[in-house]
Amino acid sequence: MSEKRDYYEVLGVSRDASESEIKKAFRKKAMQYHPDRNPDDPEAAEKFKEVSEAFEVLSDPEKRAAYDRFGFAGVDSSFSHVSASDFSSFSDLFSSLFGEDLFSEFFGGHRRRASGPRKGSDLVMNYSISFYDAIFGTKRVVEVPIKKVCPTCNGSGTKKGSSPRICPTCQGSGVETLTQRSGFTIFQRQIQCRQCNGKGQIIDNPCPTCKGTGRAKENEKIRLEIPPGVDSGFRLRIKGKGEEGRLGGPRGDLYIRIIVDEHPFFKRRGDDLAAEIAIPYPIAVLGGEITIPTPYGPEKVNIPKNTKDGDIIRLAKKGVQRQTRYGVNRGDFHVVVRIDIPKKLTNEEKELLIKLSKIMQMPEKQQKLFNKLFEEIKKNKK
Ligand SMILES: [Zn+2]
Ligand SMILES: [Zn+2]
Repeated sequence: MSEKRDYYEVLGVSRDASESEIKKAFRKKAMQYHPDRNPDDPEAAEKFKEVSEAFEVLSDPEKRAAYDRFGFAGVDSSFSHVSASDFSSFSDLFSSLFGEDLFSEFFGGHRRRASGPRKGSDLVMNYSISFYDAIFGTKRVVEVPIKKVCPTCNGSGTKKGSSPRICPTCQGSGVETLTQRSGFTIFQRQIQCRQCNGKGQIIDNPCPTCKGTGRAKENEKIRLEIPPGVDSGFRLRIKGKGEEGRLGGPRGDLYIRIIVDEHPFFKRRGDDLAAEIAIPYPIAVLGGEITIPTPYGPEKVNIPKNTKDGDIIRLAKKGVQRQTRYGVNRGDFHVVVRIDIPKKLTNEEKELLIKLSKIMQMPEKQQKLFNKLFEEIKKNKK
């Protein structure tokens, strides 16, 4: 293939695209180029590889940040390509990337019927942590509700002593064929059987424990090790902790999507931190040293003289510390300075300010402009 194209260009999204915009763009392109849909087009296979690679990088906050900073050099070119052959079917691609739900939502609930062992669905769970746990990392044990094979009916969904019957509508295939005529053309469309919901069989006497689903919810304790420096959107993959497979297939994976609570003082901008501080006006004019809180402890900050409201002082490498495959990445701490105009004054402060206001002039440049304008208005006034 010729020169590598920019990942954002490949997916057709802007550089500040959100996680869901990237997902949406990928789904659209992957559908278009998937080899299952273009069996005789080698170009489509190449395109599919290209969009998969772009998605693998841009959907991972860590890889995306590295790519934004260093381009292709920032992302290891030897990472595992999502290639069509890794997935036994089109639906598996989506199951493994997004979990079963996204796939069924996309295809109106119609899924291929499984004949052999099938890997269980992946599960995605949101998990909130505090600002400090995100900075320093944490170890947790969480309870994840996982659907397991119902112990009462062993997964058959039927009451003891009874058995399911084959669906008369679809003869067990789970699929109904609709025929539509338009002029001389006949369209045939396959949909999920409406009588059995695609299961191929009908349970007249459902198991009382699982109500015919064949699955039972059970809470499983799972140990989480959240590394330092994670941000909202970070996904932890726990292999083999998703839903149980069907017909002896392996368990799916569990994805823990981290949501970091906002902190009232410390704000995160990727690996950088920002905080607004207020300083008294004399320090802004004369300069001075103040001590501010950082997540790692108190930090002395030098306020230069003539600091203006809104000025930003950068404390290099005092932001989020995050282990990457290229070493520890350290963000910066941005101190946004606000000049405080006090509402309450002590008597001493008041006296000094009155004294100061008597000797302080209007800014010289402005006074000159005012004088000019007074003249100009006098001349032009009618
Ligand atoms: Zn049951
Ligand atoms: Zn049916």
